[in-house]
Amino acid sequence: MATIAFIGLGNMGNPMAANLVKAGHAVTGYDLVADNLRKAESSGVSVAGSAHEAIAGTEIVVTMLPAGAHVISVYEDLAPRAPKGTLFIDSSTIDVASARRAHEIAAANGHLSVDAPVSGGVGGAEAGTLTFMAGGGEEAFARARPVLDAMAGKIVHCGDAGAGQAAKICNNMILGISMIGVCEAFVLAEKLGLSHQALFDVASTSSGQCWSLTTYCPVPGPVPASPANRDYKPGFAAGLMLKDLRLAQEAAGSTGAATPLGAEAAQLYALFEAMGNGGADFSGIINFLRGKAAP
Ligand code: NAD
Repeated sequence: MATIAFIGLGNMGNPMAANLVKAGHAVTGYDLVADNLRKAESSGVSVAGSAHEAIAGTEIVVTMLPAGAHVISVYEDLAPRAPKGTLFIDSSTIDVASARRAHEIAAANGHLSVDAPVSGGVGGAEAGTLTFMAGGGEEAFARARPVLDAMAGKIVHCGDAGAGQAAKICNNMILGISMIGVCEAFVLAEKLGLSHQALFDVASTSSGQCWSLTTYCPVPGPVPASPANRDYKPGFAAGLMLKDLRLAQEAAGSTGAATPLGAEAAQLYALFEAMGNGGADFSGIINFLRGKAAP
């Protein structure tokens, strides 16, 4: 069992750290928010008064932070102070360039590192069934795997530094685009007098089949567990979908990849958020599409 410093005990970090404790690891946590520290303490995490205190004598540092700038600043602060040979695992969703920079900072200070963003949301974090997409060298990944196991349903080693973040934003770009596609089909079906259930029964077993339809159906009824059945309470908030679509657009811009539908999806989610829906589930964009008149 390992000694782990966990930095960033928010909605995701708190249950993830709790699962590390349950698996028998010695976890010391730090967050800027006192309430998050109290919550972590109640699940058996030892809380530290600072990030420096959290990493004293640690073998592994896990970060679960809002964005790339937070990760870089924490790495710049902690990497020179952590015991040599520490394994750094960043599970935040951040831009690929910052992820690669974080690996460089770790390596320059004699550490191993893995970018390991997750899919599965707060529910997956609580249940310990997250999907981890990992990027980094073989040795770093081999050390990270048993730690990730305590929080994971599935772990995929996607390649070298930054490959985990690349997989995450590509996957979520598919998700954002496919959700809008499914919503548009239901809106058109409504105009044509076709019932939700009839469209679902056909498309869910035909070539229109996809996760956005069969697991996360954006209209109430066909899939009882989907957020549409509870007034679009998340689930996966539209604001987080917008964050990921923007990361994909940033990466498309810097690499010259053509992603016209990804760009359109980012714009539609930006409008949806600007109308005050950032906290609603991302499948709620169907209501926004219903309100848009055809050009
Ligand atoms: P959150 O805002 O609830 O948690 C982030 C935490 O980091 C906060 O508690 C904040 O106080 C803390 N923090 C910020 N700077 C810090 C610092 N310098 N030192 C210590 N703590 C610091 O966000 P979240 O929902 O837990 O998401 C975390 C990451 O996971 C994000 O990158 C997000 O995109 C990604 N993610 C979230 C979900 C989800 O459903 N919430 C799903 C997949 C991925």
